[in-house]
Amino acid sequence: MSKTYNITLLPGDGIGPEVITESVKVLDAVAEKAGFELKYTTCNAGGAAIDAHNDPMPDSVVETCKASNAVLLGAVGGPKWDALTGAMRPESGLLKIRKELGAFANLRPVTVPESLAENSPLRPETVAGLDLFTVRELTGGIYFGEPRGTEGEGDDRKSWNTMVYSVGEIKRVARVAFEWARKRRNKVTSVDKANVLDVSRLWRDTVIELHQAEYSDVELDHLYIDNAAMQMVINPRQFDVILTGNIFGDILSDTSATLGGSLGLLPSASVGGPVGIFEPVHGSAPDIAGQGKANPFAMILSAGMMLDTLGEDAAANAIRAGVKQVLDDGYRSGDLWREGNKLASTTELGDLVKTATLAAM
Ligand code: NAD
Repeated sequence: MSKTYNITLLPGDGIGPEVITESVKVLDAVAEKAGFELKYTTCNAGGAAIDAHNDPMPDSVVETCKASNAVLLGAVGGPKWDALTGAMRPESGLLKIRKELGAFANLRPVTVPESLAENSPLRPETVAGLDLFTVRELTGGIYFGEPRGTEGEGDDRKSWNTMVYSVGEIKRVARVAFEWARKRRNKVTSVDKANVLDVSRLWRDTVIELHQAEYSDVELDHLYIDNAAMQMVINPRQFDVILTGNIFGDILSDTSATLGGSLGLLPSASVGGPVGIFEPVHGSAPDIAGQGKANPFAMILSAGMMLDTLGEDAAANAIRAGVKQVLDDGYRSGDLWREGNKLASTTELGDLVKTATLAAM
């Protein structure tokens, strides 16, 4: 009997529903060919959920997500809901679902096929063929550490935060990085500030111990965050999987996101709990919503990462090959278009990726 996966779709707002439609088109085609089944439940999230339920992430939607195998999220927000504050903001719904699903690792792959190297802010020869993958710890470190606070008056007024990681927190995110490295080019670069911070020394020691105990087949090296930031710009192709904590990962993954020159190409995932969330890095792009101009690649590639995580590696690899083929054939949405390219709509690009993906299987 074929495997069945239950997927919750949260299309959200703006271009979210448009890019979700294209990713489902591609997913259904690969599932049929690979011999598994995807069953979808679609729920409102963000602004759409505020309009329908007066809540950007109703508990009933959280329960549906928890009961599924994976969540595919488009994007949320837009001018219509900009005046709302606090828990009523569309983004609060996103924070809630990520927290409820216990996602402690954020995954951000960045690829720059040769056909897109000209779009990069770096020299084409520096980025052509780039394929790096950042694993960022998402629920610990200085963003959440206690104690934190502010006290005093005048020049004596001071504030503090605490950067804290336990061995258990470091091990579980390091495992995610080592496992992905095994699926890729088998190399992890762990990024810390072990020359200055105690917490980074614990990070490094823990990563080394785990590596020796369970992952000695994977190549491991270590960089200080300041050097890693330089290397990201000088020679980003040296990286395969980058493993790092919350604050360093926040900065490094955004730096890596600029290398390809377009938000429309960047998938992401937040995983670690029983159910992962797969979503493009871009927002709801209200300026182009409803016009057929949205680039669906980031969403389609996020769906590919979902298949990786479900263990459908062959189908996931075919999706990546399909997207690359369409780009190599010169088809572009407006955000990527340059002289000599073929301009295509969101739907046309989805159709092209579907065909190219099936051909790659
Ligand atoms: P954005 O990512 O939506 O758009 C930035 C620019 O990139 C716009 O010019 C847009 O047209 C373009 N763009 C983005 N994705 C594209 C795509 N797939 N194809 C073609 N062009 C694309 O960021 P923003 O304008 O700062 O935010 C718009 C709304 O999205 C806001 O309400 C914001 O809060 C929300 N937002 C949501 C998420 C999320 O849901 N994860 C992330 C970021 C922003």
